[in-house]
Amino acid sequence: MKKILLTLLMGLMLVTPSFSQIQRPKLIVGLVVDQMRWDYLYYYYNQYRSNGLRRLVDNGFSFENTLINYVPTVTAIGHSSIYTGSVPALTGIAGNNFYMNGKPVYCCDDSTVTSVGSNSKEGMMSPRNLWATGIGDVLKIATDYRSKVIGIALKDRAAILPAGHAADAAYWWDQSAGHFITSTYYMKQLPEWVVRTNKLVQEKPGTNVKTSVPGVTKTFQLAEAAVENEQLGQDSITDLLAVSVSSTDAIGHTYGTRGKENYDVFMELDRQVADFLDFLDKKVGKGNYLLFLSADHGGAHNHNLMTEHKIPGGGLNLYKNLKPIEIELEKELGFAPVIKDENAGRIYLNHEGIAKSSKTLAEVKKAVCKKLQENENILYAVDYENVLATSIPQPIREMIVNGYNKKRSGDIYYVPKAGWENVDDAPTYKGTTHAEWNPYDAHIPFILYGWNVKHGQTSAQAHITDIAPTICAMMHIQMPNSCVGTSLSDYLK
Ligand code: ZN
Ligand code: ZN
Repeated sequence: MKKILLTLLMGLMLVTPSFSQIQRPKLIVGLVVDQMRWDYLYYYYNQYRSNGLRRLVDNGFSFENTLINYVPTVTAIGHSSIYTGSVPALTGIAGNNFYMNGKPVYCCDDSTVTSVGSNSKEGMMSPRNLWATGIGDVLKIATDYRSKVIGIALKDRAAILPAGHAADAAYWWDQSAGHFITSTYYMKQLPEWVVRTNKLVQEKPGTNVKTSVPGVTKTFQLAEAAVENEQLGQDSITDLLAVSVSSTDAIGHTYGTRGKENYDVFMELDRQVADFLDFLDKKVGKGNYLLFLSADHGGAHNHNLMTEHKIPGGGLNLYKNLKPIEIELEKELGFAPVIKDENAGRIYLNHEGIAKSSKTLAEVKKAVCKKLQENENILYAVDYENVLATSIPQPIREMIVNGYNKKRSGDIYYVPKAGWENVDDAPTYKGTTHAEWNPYDAHIPFILYGWNVKHGQTSAQAHITDIAPTICAMMHIQMPNSCVGTSLSDYLK
């Protein structure tokens, strides 16, 4: 009898596909919340509903100590690093704006493509400036391009960079048109379901939706329509939906990390997350999708709010304060301009001017660093080519090197004192920004939820570059081609 049962069982094992097939979720959902500080998970915890963001915290696995391991901590880099598991030195996405062949470019600029869904220039975008593959690309490669990959956000870069090169589509908000568009990189005309959804989300052309609470609502409206109409997660081939919520960033910049505006946008995010999870449970099925929540960077508290409570800080306002430095440098070095541009902590020098002058590049770099460090709120100004030989604490040194792209990042990087962001120094200034190495900018949420994820958390240090290899390890697919992160999937066992 025992023998018969055993034979029967073995026979069953041979015919049951679950014993011989790779197990993967039907859908991966990447949810990136722009400028979501890690501590927003807990600062608003008591106000979140039980089935929204709290559902992720209470049921998912949270990597509580996930840090960004490069500077500057800005949107384009954050989104590309999450999905590529890599850093600007290797991805080519050196910032929201950087230089290519001596010319300033926006990260997603592509003059070879045009808008689809509007007549504006807001659709002249693609992922072509990104050198690395992302989760969507390796998923496509692993499934012989049968997976569907779609990116959605109000910001173009937050839709395009997460979706990657081989994506089926990326959709973003065209402010001049007042609805979502894409570019000819992906398709010739908008799918019927996007046209239909656009009628529901349409705003008066020119309306600033990116700095509005309804911006969150519209993003999730399009995300749900994508799942529904593209049949994401409806078969055994895993799809990827990369959603990014942009309004949280613009509201943070304008109104700061505290107050009614920030509260309102996070409450709307919470409501939308609750509805979206219910929707996914119904459409894709509980346990059939793997969702991760993260952020492209955090944000500093407003410096006036800090100093009001005797916590040091201020507005570096280098946009204004660079002018007197430039005048002094021109006098000292004998050519003009010395500094060609400044962006997110980078200084681009005038190389043509240096070549024609009597000074060497090394002499100019030294003079500029010295002058910048005369500003009492700048701790370090370093030659990008010589960071490792400079007396800067090791973690920051490594972040500067990871963020330095030799072809695109300029010549010098400066590090301000803690509490000092490059913002307005006026006592009436209410907003904030991000870009620095400090925990307020670099500490982000990373929570996995759903398929094959048990509840738990760890305070072990993790990095933004670990997100992509973790997802890939869980799926048993090769990690992206420039990945420098490490899989954290063992924590889930
Ligand atoms: Zn951002
Ligand atoms: Zn921002």
